[in-house]
Amino acid sequence: MTFPAPVAVVGGGIGGLAAALALGQVGVHTSLYEQSATFEEVGAGIGLGPNAIRRLDAWGIGKALRESACMPQRLLVQHAGDGRLLGCLPMADAFVARYGAPYLTMHRADLHDCLWQALQSQTSAVLTLNHRLHAVTHTAQSVELHFENNQTVVHAQALLGADGLHSRVRPLVCGDEAPVASGHWAYRALLPMQDLPVVWRKPQIGMWLGPALHVVHYPVKGGEWLNLVVLVEATDGAASAGWDVARTPAQTAADLQRAMNTCCRGLKELVSMAPLWRAWCLLDRPPVDSAAQLARGKLALLGDAAHPMLPYLAQGAGMAIEDAAQMAAQWQHAHLSVEDRLQRYAQARWQRVAKVQQRARRNGKLFHAQGWLRVARDTAMALGGAKLMDMPWLYGG
Ligand SMILES: Cc1cc2nc3c(=O)[nH]c(=O)nc-3n(C[C@H](O)[C@H](O)[C@H](O)COP(=O)(O)OP(=O)(O)OC[C@H]3O[C@@H](n4cnc5c(N)ncnc54)[C@H](O)[C@@H]3O)c2cc1C
Repeated sequence: MTFPAPVAVVGGGIGGLAAALALGQVGVHTSLYEQSATFEEVGAGIGLGPNAIRRLDAWGIGKALRESACMPQRLLVQHAGDGRLLGCLPMADAFVARYGAPYLTMHRADLHDCLWQALQSQTSAVLTLNHRLHAVTHTAQSVELHFENNQTVVHAQALLGADGLHSRVRPLVCGDEAPVASGHWAYRALLPMQDLPVVWRKPQIGMWLGPALHVVHYPVKGGEWLNLVVLVEATDGAASAGWDVARTPAQTAADLQRAMNTCCRGLKELVSMAPLWRAWCLLDRPPVDSAAQLARGKLALLGDAAHPMLPYLAQGAGMAIEDAAQMAAQWQHAHLSVEDRLQRYAQARWQRVAKVQQRARRNGKLFHAQGWLRVARDTAMALGGAKLMDMPWLYGG
């Protein structure tokens, strides 16, 4: 048995690292346990809205992050079939003026590394790799964590489950239903910018909407790479496979060729230039419907463990960062019990994350629309333009 830490965090992804960092900054000591033995270059590009960047700036890691991140000048939305412009949202300085921080695009590993470096220089956290949470038991005073590898038992005042989509902590908080397969796949690739025609090298986010698919691209790693994502609705019954799976080149070529059949030549050419693809079968859960789904007793959930979402609002990591900030804010109430702090965290978060989950699902329908819905979407974009694409409720929150 090891000595009790005030807060145990399980999961060393963006959510877990952010929680340990934020708690440390308000003087709360944490022990963080991650199942992997090392952190590899996991994931691909992600975008973070000003709502997340403001929090990272407040934690003092915005400067380091900006060394590898890119600041897109605008979001351009085009029709995947004929390339027609549907809408343009100015970002960069306009976002800084409006929301106090920019929208940044980056490689997930760079964000992870910034959080990890910051955490290592903060003496408030003990980071332990190669520890896979197996079970949790309670005593009146503490939570007991049992790990798979070496029978370690750890006691803590509270346990934060930041252990992702297939969380071990989640069933103890709010039941055990499985994640839902959306039937959508994300194919992700990184392309060296120097090999691309100049038309693709612009500091902007490009989004292309087509029937049952959309494509997103933006620069990452200081503009040296283009992150390219093709999101398609599966037709081959492979809807419930694993999370990050390698598809053979032949499978990928067939998937993309079929899905992009009606896309314009330029877009097809861009997709054909990607050297290597990885495929994600997209899973989520129904939107959170009460605070009880985020915390119970001495346990709380954050990030994908609490509210996994489709990436159609680009906010999964952003919401995990917001969760972490809110959690730290509640631990500043020293007069409250541990249970009350976690309850207040859940009360403060559940409606916002539920709205983001709902909007992400709705975007999936709008982005992939066909028939009358597509006509209505395109007309609304033509009339509403930038105003429709901006989201003060999200970026200003
Ligand atoms: C295609 C795609 C595009 C995306 N784009 C964006 C975007 O643009 N912007 C954005 O904000 N988000 C985006 N996301 C979502 C974002 O990547 C996730 O929401 C975010 O990474 C979740 O972080 P997390 O820390 O909650 O979970 P995870 O990253 O899943 O981390 C969980 C951690 O817990 C560990 N773990 C699991 N079980 C155990 C256990 N039993 N014991 C110990 N450790 C354990 C895992 O090894 C892992 O390190 C995207 C997702 C996808 C799939």
